[in-house]
Amino acid sequence: MTAKHKAVRHKHIPQRSCAVCRQVCPKRELTRLVISPEAGIQVDTSGKAPGRGAYLCGNPVCWERAAHGEVLSKALRTNLTEQDRVRLSAHMAQLAPQVQSNHD
Ligand SMILES: [Zn+2]
Repeated sequence: MTAKHKAVRHKHIPQRSCAVCRQVCPKRELTRLVISPEAGIQVDTSGKAPGRGAYLCGNPVCWERAAHGEVLSKALRTNLTEQDRVRLSAHMAQLAPQVQSNHD
């Protein structure tokens, strides 16, 4: 055992909460959505896009709710368009863990 207790400074990690489930996570573990006047709701992979943003955690359920509920429209103060929902669903599909289907 070589692990020594070093004087680890508490580094401030930015925390944000998921717009749907409200779970607080380090910002980098959340996905930022940003509302663009021209392009609607965009997945902001850089986390730095200008504009009003909202964060979603990695739970596909939250994305599902975000796409079909009112959470995002309230958080982003916009109305989700069909294209926004499609974009969210597309991103959600990437998030979804490889669910092993029960083949019976
Ligand atoms: Zn969530």
